[in-house]
Amino acid sequence: MKYFSVPDYHMHTPRCNHAVGDVRTYAQAAIKHGLTEIGISDHSPMPNGFDAAWRMGLAELPGYLQEVEMVCDEMQADLTVRIGLEADFHPGTEVAVQSMIDAYTWDYVIGSVHFIGDWGFDNPDEIHRWDTMDVEDAYVAYFDLLARSAATGMFDIIGHPDLIKKFGQRAPISSHRVDQAESNMLDAVKEAGMVLEISSAGLRKPIKEIYPHERIIEKAAKRQIPFAFGSDAHAPEEVGHGMEACLDMLSRYGVQEMASFEKRQCIMKPIRALA
Ligand SMILES: [Zn+2]
Ligand SMILES: [Zn+2]
Repeated sequence: MKYFSVPDYHMHTPRCNHAVGDVRTYAQAAIKHGLTEIGISDHSPMPNGFDAAWRMGLAELPGYLQEVEMVCDEMQADLTVRIGLEADFHPGTEVAVQSMIDAYTWDYVIGSVHFIGDWGFDNPDEIHRWDTMDVEDAYVAYFDLLARSAATGMFDIIGHPDLIKKFGQRAPISSHRVDQAESNMLDAVKEAGMVLEISSAGLRKPIKEIYPHERIIEKAAKRQIPFAFGSDAHAPEEVGHGMEACLDMLSRYGVQEMASFEKRQCIMKPIRALA
């Protein structure tokens, strides 16, 4: 089964210090793969030096917007380019992050959790901290943070909604606490009118699985929470990666629409299979 292309809303630029390729190269790669819409969503500046090595500084934000707008104008006949941002939800940073979001016009803002307390749980340099961590506790803490991020109303899309599994640690399948924390998170997402990202990035990580897990997709579909697509590309060749696998997964749960964004308005569009 072949599908119409879906918007890939999650990709980075070298400003975050761990991606390669300028915006034009990402856009050219998207056109090459037959995509008609993408969104650039680089790691946002954060206050107080939070995770500063892995993101742009505040002074780089205007240049980021300028570069995306320039490519957007250049490519408009062949490709729609949205301007997005991947901001972190980290308790205590909300006021500064909100004022940064408010200072510019975005098509969408992804809210992601990459830290539990001071632990950058998806950072390969901090993988050893899993050794002293109760896996079930880590999952519950992670989903609680996602629920809190949704409740702030600051973001449009929940990024890679079970990133906690990236390196392969899994909570017991029978865990009632994790099941409950996932459900609470999804209730908060529904309540906030937000969208869940379905991300192919996990397929390229040790877990080798789409984010989020099928069980979460099933629960989200039951709640009629919309999905947006993201490859989380940190290199142009990753643009559009795994989108067919994501579409197959959603079709198994009867999801027939996908979310697109313009100036922070969510527009639902049909997913149509090509014969
Ligand atoms: Zn990144
Ligand atoms: Zn992320």
